[in-house]
Amino acid sequence: SKTNESMMQRRVAAVPRGVGQIHPIFADHAKNSSVVDVEGREFIDFAGGIAVLNTGHLHPKIVKAVEEQLHKLTHTCFQVLAYEPYVELCEKINARVPGNFAKKTLLVTTGSEAVENAVKIARAATGRAGVIAFTGAYHGRTMMTLGLTGKVAPYSAGMGLMPGGIFRALYPCAIHGVSVDDSIASIERIFKNDAEPRDIAAIIIEPVQGEGGFNVAPKDFMARLRALCDEHGILLIADEVQTGAGRTGTFFAMEQMGVVADLTTFAKSVGGGFPIAGVCGKAEIMDAIAPGGLGGTYAGNPLSCAAALAVLEVFEEEKLLDRCKAVAERLTTGLKAIQAKHKEIGEVRGLGAMIAIELFEDGDHARPAAALTSQIVARARDKGLILLSCGTYYNVLRVLVPLTAEDELLDRGLAIIAECFDELT
Ligand code: PMP
Repeated sequence: SKTNESMMQRRVAAVPRGVGQIHPIFADHAKNSSVVDVEGREFIDFAGGIAVLNTGHLHPKIVKAVEEQLHKLTHTCFQVLAYEPYVELCEKINARVPGNFAKKTLLVTTGSEAVENAVKIARAATGRAGVIAFTGAYHGRTMMTLGLTGKVAPYSAGMGLMPGGIFRALYPCAIHGVSVDDSIASIERIFKNDAEPRDIAAIIIEPVQGEGGFNVAPKDFMARLRALCDEHGILLIADEVQTGAGRTGTFFAMEQMGVVADLTTFAKSVGGGFPIAGVCGKAEIMDAIAPGGLGGTYAGNPLSCAAALAVLEVFEEEKLLDRCKAVAERLTTGLKAIQAKHKEIGEVRGLGAMIAIELFEDGDHARPAAALTSQIVARARDKGLILLSCGTYYNVLRVLVPLTAEDELLDRGLAIIAECFDELT
């Protein structure tokens, strides 16, 4: 019979090492918030395939919608023969993305592709080529998005310089000493030192940084960023690939930020486990690119559109935004109780159910505890809990458990995290 170890050997021989793997586990099947590996061991899934499974593994309504679509049509390429699920999904996304103006949506397949296209659209709409991105940002692994991603190792190390015209501003992060004023000043500094505002097409920001450590952009920062963009005719792109689809308590995190973006990228949990992503924005901006300039063979695949439409229905029917608040409260309370006993946990933070804890040696905010963080991820897995870390300093533990997870499963996961801290600190 198959073992994780034998599968790992085949993987190492057949797959390049650049494709990392956090847990030496091969999944066999899954349901809602549990995954069973090839050896028959069950794990609690607090990772959700990196923010993809807000509706859980194999949600029955999503499976049914995809099965129905599977018997009708799997592919035409939307640019050859169109189909209704693509248009219907765009209509629904247009209605859900914040902003009191006419919107249009482009569908693609991955978050990186969505960001690539948002930048292309911003360039076409403004006639400018520069883009400002932030420290600690994660926007993808394609060439342009690697340039935007604010972490060299491991993402772009060894690959040479990424495309030019990208400028780096500081993401506000109080715990690491970057104030909102510092952050705004870093943009003003770019305008003074590197590029005139009239050469900047867009500023791209994650309203809550995902890979960067679940740092929440303060509302007053967002207001000042919006004002800067308006002053200089720069477009604001909200990358909601990780924050979107209800993770933060609203369908999009920008609903809580007090300002609206010109362009919004989405992916991950919008598809409930099927590959779909897109860019939604002001209609006139979205129309800046001429026919033929947008699209892709598989972009907006019918199966993925059917899945995404089902995700939206599940959110309504199961009131998942309300459930998100309950999950957020339970996780926050549980994690704060662990923090009260362990000085290593410097902060419990997040927005909605996008919650993380940041670890420091002896609680000293100048000494990120990367080793302890990876030890906890490994020990939790040995105890049956799949966790993910993140953060510029590799010292943040994040929770991306399905919003459909039962309270009892959340409590079991929290208990395992508590045990790990008791044993390792
Ligand atoms: N933007 C953000 C905010 C992300 O978190 C990610 C993925 N972690 C991406 C873009 C890239 O998405 P994908 O991996 O689907 O290309």
